[in-house]
Amino acid sequence: MTQPTVSRDIPPAEGATPALAQWFAAKAAHPDALVFFRMGDFFELFFSDAEAAAPVLDIAVSHRGEHRGQPVPMAGVPVHAWEGYLAKLIRAGWRVAVCDQVETPEQAKARRAPTIRREVVRVVTPSTVTEEGLLEAGRPSWLLAVAEDAEAMGAAWLDVSTGAFATAALPRGELAALLARLEPAEAVAPPLLAEAAELARLAGRVAAREAPRDPPRLLREAYGVATLDGFGRFSEAELAAAALALSYVRETQAGALPRLDPPRPEGAAPGVLVLDAATRRSLEILRDGRGGTEATLLSAVDRTVTAAGARELAARLSAPLAEAGPIAARHDAVAFLLGAEAVRAAVRGALKGAPDMARALARLALDRFAPRDLAALRLGLGVAEAVRAAVASAPLPVPDLVSAAEAALGLDAALRGELDRALVAERLPARLEDGGIIAAGYDGELDALRRLRDGGREAIAALQAELAMAWGVASLKIRHHQQFGFLAELPAAPAERLLRDPPKGLAEGHAPIHRQTMANAVRFTCAALAELDRKVAEAGERAAARERACVRHIRRMLLEAGAPIAEAARALAELDVHAAAAALAAEGGWCRPEMPDRAEFCIAAGRHPVVEAALRRARGPAFVPNDCDLSPGRRVCLLTGPNMAGKSTYLRQNALAVVLAQAGLFVPAASARIGLVDRMFSRVGGGDDIAGGRSTFMVEMAETAAILNGATARSLVVLDEVGRGTATWDGLAIAWAVLEALHDRIRCRAVFATHFHELTALAGRLPEVALASMKVREWRGEVVFQHLVGPGAAERSWGVHVARLAGVPRPVLARAAQVLSALETRARAGGPDALAEELPLFARNAPRQTPPHAPLAELLAEIDPDALSPREAHEALYRLKALCSEIAAPQHENTVTGASDKIM
Ligand code: ADP
Ligand code: MG
Repeated sequence: MTQPTVSRDIPPAEGATPALAQWFAAKAAHPDALVFFRMGDFFELFFSDAEAAAPVLDIAVSHRGEHRGQPVPMAGVPVHAWEGYLAKLIRAGWRVAVCDQVETPEQAKARRAPTIRREVVRVVTPSTVTEEGLLEAGRPSWLLAVAEDAEAMGAAWLDVSTGAFATAALPRGELAALLARLEPAEAVAPPLLAEAAELARLAGRVAAREAPRDPPRLLREAYGVATLDGFGRFSEAELAAAALALSYVRETQAGALPRLDPPRPEGAAPGVLVLDAATRRSLEILRDGRGGTEATLLSAVDRTVTAAGARELAARLSAPLAEAGPIAARHDAVAFLLGAEAVRAAVRGALKGAPDMARALARLALDRFAPRDLAALRLGLGVAEAVRAAVASAPLPVPDLVSAAEAALGLDAALRGELDRALVAERLPARLEDGGIIAAGYDGELDALRRLRDGGREAIAALQAELAMAWGVASLKIRHHQQFGFLAELPAAPAERLLRDPPKGLAEGHAPIHRQTMANAVRFTCAALAELDRKVAEAGERAAARERACVRHIRRMLLEAGAPIAEAARALAELDVHAAAAALAAEGGWCRPEMPDRAEFCIAAGRHPVVEAALRRARGPAFVPNDCDLSPGRRVCLLTGPNMAGKSTYLRQNALAVVLAQAGLFVPAASARIGLVDRMFSRVGGGDDIAGGRSTFMVEMAETAAILNGATARSLVVLDEVGRGTATWDGLAIAWAVLEALHDRIRCRAVFATHFHELTALAGRLPEVALASMKVREWRGEVVFQHLVGPGAAERSWGVHVARLAGVPRPVLARAAQVLSALETRARAGGPDALAEELPLFARNAPRQTPPHAPLAELLAEIDPDALSPREAHEALYRLKALCSEIAAPQHENTVTGASDKIM
């Protein structure tokens, strides 16, 4: 999306009419927004705003009046339908300043002002919309603010539509990963930072604003607290970012501040599993390769029943945790709900149809709500109570997260009682102005005013009968007109008679007074009718005013309970996620992963949730489960096999198991032991970054560099065909160098898929590499993929067979087979060492930098036996023993044990 810019093509303001002068003032205050200028029943756009918006809105530009001798270009949209137009502009990347009328024409007249007062009441931007129609139900709508000081960067993100607010301190290098994780709707940053390459991806949705002067003070004042310590520990840059986010929101809401949770510092690593943008793309967590949402991990595992639950699940999958305690707490909750089937069913049943309380509350706080938001909160409070009761019925002991949710759901019963009494039971009207929101019996004064109004109506009905008799016109009808109030309407003929020859001896106040003649009817009033009309109108107005006051009271009451209601909404969302994860585990036979605090990785009969779901939908063959064992001694799995055999699927299913496990869900496997992963990298060779304008090979190398610089011994790296983007020898060389670096230097867990068979030969030199291959059978000259991972290297390249499947002509295939066998003969004769000689690169020039026993040697060197007390000596022995078991000499074993063997 290219950034829409407002053309500078606006004439000077001098000589403008009073109304247009207001427009110029609004425009000057919001130069980077389109101004929606309220004129009666329309929002008008002027000058270049009109020209910019017209094509997006598919409306015509007309000209009205003159400014400095030139006609004024103008386009307008009706106020009653403005939301739809607004949505189009926001989606096209525009910001819209809403300049509304803030007084009535009568008030303006009383002031003797030349025109009605208008003010910008709100700036609508991609991240600060709250209208239901403009929001994606299942996605958060983040505003991301970033700030930077000499030391580091700070980020803060908030969702105006739910009140969620979090911050993080991060190195500059991780901004791109944060953007990939949050997919913010909009960002705000100080001018220099706003130009940063990382933010460029957001195109026009970056606002440049200076950070506020005294961030801690701004935050303290916003939350009315004396110190921020209660919220957690923040870095300076984090505080600056949080304050910037707040002040930007304040700017867009014309000073009002929505209800926001206190900012929650996410803390520096290891709070969340670090996944960079390329990894997210390749794992298709929230978006698939084409930017859609269908073939994604989220859509395959989402069993939530509420929009807020879906948002929570998406947030968890895009930011899995990296700390054992919180992960185990989530697993406990899921395990509990998996076992307590009746509780799970009751919770999910009660949650179904739960309204989006957080978003309703946000609209209430911004005074931008409709009666349905009140209804949503009433319903939501009822759901909260039902869910609480369902949880309370659970057998003890209940895990921490579940009992915390139960506590959060225990809202003040008086609140729900009052809401129940206050709001009408049946369907509420669409708009606040329609009235009829407050139930009878809630407010005595409102009831009295309504009786007066309705009594007036009854009196009018009685008067209709009297006048029909007195004027001698049986068809006389008293009707209400928007402009004139109540009038007596007569057909043309009797009306003419009445005018010509008014009846004599009429009762006081019954003399007809002509008001209006239309084609086939004439309207009259009389003193009595006018008096009644006035009374009814007055009572109606007073009743409406009283009802508005009641609604305001209810709004205040709900906002006063805003924090506990928001917490209850969050508890509902979390329970929804836990119950959904349990339902998913029950339906698919998923298991709770063991999460040891060691770099282990052992999955039995694992599946790829997205591919499995797709196969099931297609009613094709069932998914073939596969094991993966990256235990110490066999940390790196080198996987070979022909195209289409299932390599990529296998790689990703293991990476996805980590995402699921650390997000707190169960995993699709018979059993899983996953030592906590701090960072995960997943790469697919040969992906073109056309949008970024970089060649395939550059992209591959840049992404590979990011792994080599970022991965630690606690990381999991999944590499798919690295080196494919270039000529064979280059690619092989690079694949080898990367494999070696992962194995020797980084010492992380890794699965490495390649079609370079040469690599398998070379891998014999790396003791912790285990070979695996996709099993393929030949049947009547055709390749049959078994999708089964077995030990050892692939026996041969099946490329020629795949080529036949793809329809490559026979003579070409025959020639290819010839060349292949010649190459294979040569390779067998020479062996891997011959290849290594051909490629001096592979003759490793340096001895291994970190022999496996290096830490041991280091520790031993540190120990001075003569200087140790007996107790210290005892401790040193323990440390040595611990270290030994950690680096227990790896077995030189190049096979994969496959539970899959029994399937063969
Ligand atoms: P490769 O990376 O080796 O070319 P893929 O992983 O892309 O192969 O798999 C190709 C296709 O094979 C997938 O689209 C899927 O339909 C099927 N497939 C892969 N793994 C399995 C499996 N374990 N069980 C069943 N079908 C599978
Ligand atoms: Mg592949």
